[in-house]
Amino acid sequence: MSLRLFDTAARSLVDFEPLVPGHVGLYTCGPTVYNRVHIGNLRTFVWEDVMCRVFRSLGLSVTQVMNLTDIDDKTIRGAVAEGLPLREFTDRHIATFFEDLKTLNVVPAAVYPRATDHVPEMVEIVKKLTERGHTYESDGTIWFRIASFPSYGKLSRVDLSSMKRGARVADDEYEKEDVRDFAVWKGAKEGEPDSALWETDLGKGRPGWHLECSAMSMKYLGETLDIHTGAVDNIFPHHENEIAQSEGATGKPFVRTWLHAEHLIVDGEKMAKSKGNFFTLPDVLARGYSPRAIRYLLLSVPYRQKLNFTFDALHGAASAVERLESLDARLGERAGAAGARASESFAARLAEARAAVKAGWEDDLNSAAALGALFGFVKEANTSLEAGQLAPEDAAAARAFLREADGVLGVLPEGADASLEAEVEAKIAARQDARKRRDFAASDAIRDELASRGILLEDTPQGVRWRRKG
Ligand code: AMP
Ligand code: ZN
Repeated sequence: MSLRLFDTAARSLVDFEPLVPGHVGLYTCGPTVYNRVHIGNLRTFVWEDVMCRVFRSLGLSVTQVMNLTDIDDKTIRGAVAEGLPLREFTDRHIATFFEDLKTLNVVPAAVYPRATDHVPEMVEIVKKLTERGHTYESDGTIWFRIASFPSYGKLSRVDLSSMKRGARVADDEYEKEDVRDFAVWKGAKEGEPDSALWETDLGKGRPGWHLECSAMSMKYLGETLDIHTGAVDNIFPHHENEIAQSEGATGKPFVRTWLHAEHLIVDGEKMAKSKGNFFTLPDVLARGYSPRAIRYLLLSVPYRQKLNFTFDALHGAASAVERLESLDARLGERAGAAGARASESFAARLAEARAAVKAGWEDDLNSAAALGALFGFVKEANTSLEAGQLAPEDAAAARAFLREADGVLGVLPEGADASLEAEVEAKIAARQDARKRRDFAASDAIRDELASRGILLEDTPQGVRWRRKG
């Protein structure tokens, strides 16, 4: 395997080899479930889905774990505002999150652990940290003492000297010894609802956000993970703190490869709830774009580049998906026809395209390179088809390649199956009959019925073709 990935900690491309040959353990930071995710969040989640699909296409098996942050300041605030117990409040947002993933054809992770179901595991980590001298308590809150972990900062290379050290500081909510220290356990405060508090050996309180991910990743993937991902805003302090807690507790390396995706931006700024510059998936769907076009746009820009979201770009993505879909349909027709024998040169060209798509993905999941190679092939296949030069056997092989490539992309319609095709072909034949009888009312009715289902007919010199609306 020649898969190379850009490791944030090393700041360079590394040859990726999983700890257990043939198997990847992957932890992907999930959403804070206090509202509907926006398409910026979804860019990161679609990228992680593509990553899993690439690994599988390379013959690796993958265990993906994605946590659900269902306890933190925002979820508590939301639950209180709506007068709901925390769990009932977060249940709703988890449901819409799963809906969005399904709409975008994301293959579900192996586990979606909820933080509130793992408080005992978190308490255990805090106990270990305390035994090893990494914590101190102040007014019911337990802090991680950064000064006790000399390699703190190794992931983010954050300039610690710019953060004032040693002075005892009171931030607005808690007292800590050093500004850089962070809470692993937050003591209960006035006004916090019981549904968000746990009675534990550490006292009454709730876990810090960073601790949640340390506990859930190590529980499901072991103390050393192959890959841990998130968007770039997670690098500091979230992932830096996860390292300090996990390695502080186990004494073992926590993560072998860190991958971080750049943001989706609008007008030069990160898309964020707090900025009000966001679209949710339903917002974009309501403007008439298909989920497959949205998925395509989100995955088409390589993950280490910012993705500038515009409706023009989405329009372009819809055309690209349509192009793939229409070629798929035409290859299907051609594959079923009688004709010349397969050509060796076409088979060689196909093998070349397949290798180029694979090489693109292996090069740090470079979607632009993979798509460039794929669309180069699409263009040639279209030209051969139009010239009537593509042998049915070659068309079948080309179609198989297209679908194989789509195993990673996930943008062709799932229903591109034989039964739908047979039904559409039968309707097209009925429409041709009606036209021969000059019964234009009947032929138009068939065309309209198909259009209402998103299936468009095109009259061409070679006969009637159909494709799905992108
Ligand atoms: P949150 O719910 O805020 O914890 O975010 C969930 C995930 O989405 C995290 O991995 C964030 O880093 C990521 N994220 C947030 N905003 C964006 C954005 N504009 N573009 C890409 N990813 C984002
Ligand atoms: Zn996390």
